[in-house]
Amino acid sequence: MSSVLVINSGSSSFKYQLIDAESEERLASGLVERIGEATGHVSYDTPEGHWERSLEIPDHTAGFDVMLAGFSEHGPSLDEHPPVAVGHRVVHGGARFFEPTLITPLVLINIEDLSDLAPLHNPANVEGIKAAQHAFPDLPQVAVFDTAFHQTMPPDAYTYALEASIAERLRIRRYGFHGTSHKFVSEAAAEFLQRPLTELKQIVLHLGNGASACAVDRGRSVDTSMGFTPLEGLVMGTRTGDMDPAVLLYLQRKTRMGVEELDELVNKQSGVLGLSGHKDMRDLTRAADAGDEKARLALGVYVHRIKRYVGAYLVELGGVDVISFTAGVGENSAIVRTRSLSSLEGLGIEVDADRNEAPNTGPRVISTDDSRITVLVVPTNEELEIARQTLQATGARK
Ligand code: ADP
Repeated sequence: MSSVLVINSGSSSFKYQLIDAESEERLASGLVERIGEATGHVSYDTPEGHWERSLEIPDHTAGFDVMLAGFSEHGPSLDEHPPVAVGHRVVHGGARFFEPTLITPLVLINIEDLSDLAPLHNPANVEGIKAAQHAFPDLPQVAVFDTAFHQTMPPDAYTYALEASIAERLRIRRYGFHGTSHKFVSEAAAEFLQRPLTELKQIVLHLGNGASACAVDRGRSVDTSMGFTPLEGLVMGTRTGDMDPAVLLYLQRKTRMGVEELDELVNKQSGVLGLSGHKDMRDLTRAADAGDEKARLALGVYVHRIKRYVGAYLVELGGVDVISFTAGVGENSAIVRTRSLSSLEGLGIEVDADRNEAPNTGPRVISTDDSRITVLVVPTNEELEIARQTLQATGARK
């Protein structure tokens, strides 16, 4: 039974999943973290159990040894489920990569070269790739880019009205992120509705810690809310989303905050956390229910922004067949779903209160039978999508 190993590597941690290449079942998953610190940590899950261990993990290559030890000690055996390829989540593919790509030395140089655009992510992704090449020198390694799905956006959607020569020289344009999830969810929505993907106009709302909306026209991304970086667009757990860029200029002049501080402020200390003190939607809604004014405002700002993008994409697409909610908040927060789409009956969007509240785990309809636009909750599965695309790039799957 062959398998695919999926790696999502950060600078001091990586997540992994072993997925059966045929049944697409998750055989094992885990997290290796605090790499390079005095005490590292690994957690390891299989359908049989959960294990954790603390030990020193000097670098990603050592982290791979720790992961492999988990497979030997707790199963499943890699001899019984030999990986046929390793799939890597790579955040930034720039304008160069628009599909899953077999990693050659030249591709690796190109991914490193894009580090300017994603300084926190691409170097960390490269660490993961190098460690995987060391651990599995004979296996094909495939890069699956977060930006790739959005490479079908037309220039009108991806171009900033910034002076053209500087934008071109520094590759400043909108790229979009969460592409793997938007692709997976838009395809899963079509499959669930038993409608051809090529006939559907869709809006996907990926609401996790990071959040983005995507307009999908017959299977192709034509617009998305994240831009040059994941900062643009929706309000997120800790990111501002859209904000007049002049606010940053003003802050710089007024406070003399440096680039790093400003980066930290808009990416890590703002969003619903910055407004209310709560980053997690569960805490935020609990506080809002209890009458906390700041929490109420944060929730209001959060759903207002979602609604604004839904409106924009409805018009850009010239009508929509399906709106899907996904990721941690989208899959679990009935209040966010209902408020994001409230009072839109006139536009053919009607959420059914009971369906929306019903606890359920799989893909499901939450709109009324009369709603012209079907509203769905579709659980995302980025690792599975990476595994599929990895097999596709190696020629093992159509
Ligand atoms: P990431 O973007 O890190 O992959 P997820 O997609 O897992 O994140 O989303 C994580 C977020 O989902 C949490 O921070 C929390 O706000 C939200 N969330 C998770 N479970 C629930 C729930 N039951 N109700 C509301 N929000 C939830």
